[in-house]
Amino acid sequence: MKGYFDYNATTPLLPAAREAWLKASDAFWYNASGLYREGGAVHRHLDHARERLGDLLGADPERIVFTGGATESNNAVVRSIARRNGASSVVLSSPLEHPSLREPLRRELGARVVELTTTEAGVCDVGDLEKKIAAHHPALVTLMAANNECGTLQPWKEAARLCKDQGIPFHVDAAQWVGKLPSEGLGECDYVTGSGHKFGGPKGIGFLVLREESEPLDFLFGGPQENGRRAGTENYPAIEGMVTALETLAPRLEEVRSRQSVLRAKFIGQLRAALGSVRVIGEGADCLWNTVMFVAPQGDNRKWCARLSQAGFQVSTGSACSAIKDGSSVVLAALGASLEEMRRVIRISAGWDTTEEDWEGLAGALGNVKN
Ligand code: PMP
Repeated sequence: MKGYFDYNATTPLLPAAREAWLKASDAFWYNASGLYREGGAVHRHLDHARERLGDLLGADPERIVFTGGATESNNAVVRSIARRNGASSVVLSSPLEHPSLREPLRRELGARVVELTTTEAGVCDVGDLEKKIAAHHPALVTLMAANNECGTLQPWKEAARLCKDQGIPFHVDAAQWVGKLPSEGLGECDYVTGSGHKFGGPKGIGFLVLREESEPLDFLFGGPQENGRRAGTENYPAIEGMVTALETLAPRLEEVRSRQSVLRAKFIGQLRAALGSVRVIGEGADCLWNTVMFVAPQGDNRKWCARLSQAGFQVSTGSACSAIKDGSSVVLAALGASLEEMRRVIRISAGWDTTEEDWEGLAGALGNVKN
C-alpha cells in the first residue's frame, strides 16, 4: 500500500479481518435463523461478535444493530426521528456533515434543519450549539466525530454532554473516528454510526448503536432479524471481519496516533518546502492524524490526482461522496473556500502503517508533479 493515501475513502482489508471473514464464510455460511445446529452456531457467533463490539465501543451490546454501512445508519436515524416527531420538530446539525446525513435531513426536514456555525478552521461552535438548543428544543442533535474531508475533530463529547443535560437525543456519525481514535465516550451517545471499511474491515457492513435496545427505528422491513429491528439475513462473515479489524487496531491506537502525528507535521513542512506557502484546510484545529487537505498553488486538482497516480500515488480531490461535477464542496464552502480554491483542493489520507518514507515519497512526488 506504499503509495495509497486515500484511506478516508476506503481501506484495504486487514489480514486478520480477511482471515476471519474467509473462515466465517467457509464454516458459518448457514442462515443464523436456521433451526438446525449449524444455524444456532451462526447465531451464537453473531451474538458473540455483538458483545465484542459492545466492549470495544463501551456500549451495551443489545443496543447495537448491524447495518449495511454508515450511509444506512445515518439515514435510519434521521428518517426515524423526523417521522416520529412530526411536522414541527427541528434537528440541529452542522454544515460539515457527510451527504449520507445531509441528504436525508434535506428530504425529511427541509427548512426544519438548523445548522450550527463553524469556526474558520472547520470546527463546530459549542457555544452556538448551547444557544440553539435553548432556542429550538430540537428533536435531535447530530454531529460528526471527525470530518472526512479536512479531518477536523468535532466537539462531539461536549455536544453529547450538553444534550444529555437537556434530555435531547444525540447522534454522532463516527465513521471516520472509529478505528482511528480511541472509542471512549461513544457508548454515552444515544446513537453512534460506524462503518467497517473505514478501518480495515469489509465493505457493505456497519453498525448503529441505538439509544435503547428495543427502540423501533426505520431500517429495513420484512423478517424478524436483528431482534426484530432490521430485516434481512445477517451478514455474519462481514460482521466477524469488521469486529476483528477493530479488535486488531484498538490496542494500537495511541501508539499510531503519536507516531503518525509527528509524520503528518513533518509532511506539512515538506509540502510547503516543495510547493510554497499552501493553505492547509483545518490548520490550527485538532485533526485526524492521517488527514491533510490543502489548496495546491495552481492547476486543476483532477490533473494533480492523475499525475500523482502515474507516479504511483493515490490521493483524492476530497470526499468521493461529495465530489460534485463542478468541483464544489458544501463542506469547503462552509469553511470559506472559493470555487476557484475548491478546484485546487487535494486530500491526503494515510493509514495506520504508512511509513516516514511513504510520507516523504509523496511530498517528493508533489514537488515533481508541480513542474
Ligand atoms: N459518514 C462519514 C463521515 C463518512 O466519511 C462516510 C464515508 N465516506 C460515510 C458516512 C458513509 O459510509 P459508508 O460508505 O459506510 O456508507
